[in-house]
Amino acid sequence: MLKGKTALVTGSTSGIGLGIAKALARQGANIVMNGFGDVAGPRAEVEALGVKTGYHGADMSKPAEIEELMKYAASTFGRVDILVNNAGIQHVAKVEDFPVERWDAIIAINLSSAFHTTRLAIPAMKAANWGRIINVASAHGLVASPQKSAYVASKHAIVGFTKSIALETATTGVTSNAICPGWVLTPLVQKQIDARAESEGIPVEQAKRDLLAEKEPSLQFTTPDELGELAVFFCSPAGNNVRGVAWNMDGGWAAQ
Ligand code: NAD
Repeated sequence: MLKGKTALVTGSTSGIGLGIAKALARQGANIVMNGFGDVAGPRAEVEALGVKTGYHGADMSKPAEIEELMKYAASTFGRVDILVNNAGIQHVAKVEDFPVERWDAIIAINLSSAFHTTRLAIPAMKAANWGRIINVASAHGLVASPQKSAYVASKHAIVGFTKSIALETATTGVTSNAICPGWVLTPLVQKQIDARAESEGIPVEQAKRDLLAEKEPSLQFTTPDELGELAVFFCSPAGNNVRGVAWNMDGGWAAQ
């Protein structure tokens, strides 16, 4: 379905970004990958699906590096047809203890990076009269939790940004939507489970069950593959007039 198209997925060396990259690759899209850590392994997983990949290691907190990433994507594949703004970080602390540097990093990576990639990707999408912007927000884009002020602020803001861009592109073939996952068992969440086990002196498996029970009525993690299939839906012809939604895949978290 997406043969001949190019998807740029930020933060695709791990977790949800990698799941979305693989789901889009299964539909034939070439993938521009980005993110830190091991690159060769995730890249090989995507290439095994029979598509071409590129990689650029831009730090998504740095606008100048984001510009380089966008130039790299355009020069390597011609154009970005599908932009998935996924790179994100978390920090858990009460607001009065929140390190200023962590606040700035969360806003830069979870929110401002999407402004930069979007402003740079949209002209070519509009010229082609087809494009998909998919922002990975969170259940925390819809409801809050304590000790996550920066994360919740960034995710509510990206939902607002998604809607604004949907309105600006409403009469074109470009759409803008957000995905709002509940708990997904990625390194980002494993850190929170480990911290909980340590602070409460309980086994990691119990911390995992408690974490789910507190927020997620299904008591199940959403998977990167499931989130990838939602991204594929947004890219399908059935998604042509889906504009400005913040679609939760959260086991009932935000329904409470
Ligand atoms: P993860 O830690 O597994 O992956 C994050 C990715 O972003 C990695 O590839 C990492 O290298 C990259 N990254 C981090 N900082 C970066 C930077 N400055 N520049 C470039 N790349 C950077 O986390 P994940 O759980 O897969 O999270 C992906 C997205 O999903 C995030 O936006 C997160 O907020 C969101 N999310 C996660 C969950 C969850 O339960 N895991 C739930 C809701 C939303």
